[in-house]
Amino acid sequence: MQDLTGKVAFITGGASGIGLGMARAFLDEGMKVSLADWSDDHIAKAKEQLAGNNAVQFVKANVADRDNLRAAANETLEVFGKIHVLCNNAGVNGGGTAASPDFDDFDRALAVNLGGVVNGTKIVVPIIREQGEGGHVVNTSSMAGVVPLPGLAAYSTAKYAVRGFSESLRIQLAEKGIGVSCLFPGATRTALVPLPEDDPEHIKEEGAPQFLKDLWDAMRAAIDPYDTGKAVVAAIKENRFYIFTNNE
Ligand code: NAD
Repeated sequence: MQDLTGKVAFITGGASGIGLGMARAFLDEGMKVSLADWSDDHIAKAKEQLAGNNAVQFVKANVADRDNLRAAANETLEVFGKIHVLCNNAGVNGGGTAASPDFDDFDRALAVNLGGVVNGTKIVVPIIREQGEGGHVVNTSSMAGVVPLPGLAAYSTAKYAVRGFSESLRIQLAEKGIGVSCLFPGATRTALVPLPEDDPEHIKEEGAPQFLKDLWDAMRAAIDPYDTGKAVVAAIKENRFYIFTNNE
């Protein structure tokens, strides 16, 4: 999609961080955005930031709940008439380690980080296809979907799977005029990774694991999510699959 003017984006996890960064970059292009999020708090703050902009709609939705997400997509159609760009972006931290005995945390993390991408795709892509005007899907993975993060097994599992799902979707949609991109953010300044001013004590301790120090260094270099949004716009226009934000 070269010209995004007037196109409608449906962004999950759109009321904060990278989702909101994408929304702001899309609005710059003259697009309309529907921001689907489950957090009242994030929606209230984002409403303040985007106050007075009638190209923005907020919908309350949980990506892990299919009926709920379908209702949110329908609300978007009621207001904007169409959806051209789908951003499956909602995500949560946590889920625990690979061999911890807890199943519930793992399941919950997969239900949002992977299930949300699958649900969004199966609900919204048929709408985009039916319209016959082309479109684009952007799925948010992570650098943890390229290099596993120790201690974040459920998160990494989901993010690797998002990459595989997106590759498969790209092949399926190639002939339908619908592009697919997969976003691999490195550290980005959002609610998901709040950075205290000072380094935490466990990083300063002698003998602290090198990977934690490296991770902290990466966090310090975290980028603004609006820049991520601009990188997403460029990838949609170029119909590029891989979007790496921090090393470009
Ligand atoms: P964020 O917390 O600022 O934004 C995520 C948004 O998703 C929040 O508004 C939250 O309310 C919403 N959300 C969470 N679960 C939801 C659900 N079940 N249904 C609907 N909305 C839900 O975090 P972010 O950093 O902007 O995260 C966005 C995406 O980027 C996530 O998929 C995350 O895994 C990914 N990511 C972030 C970073 C980073 O450094 N921030 C790095 C790599 C990948």
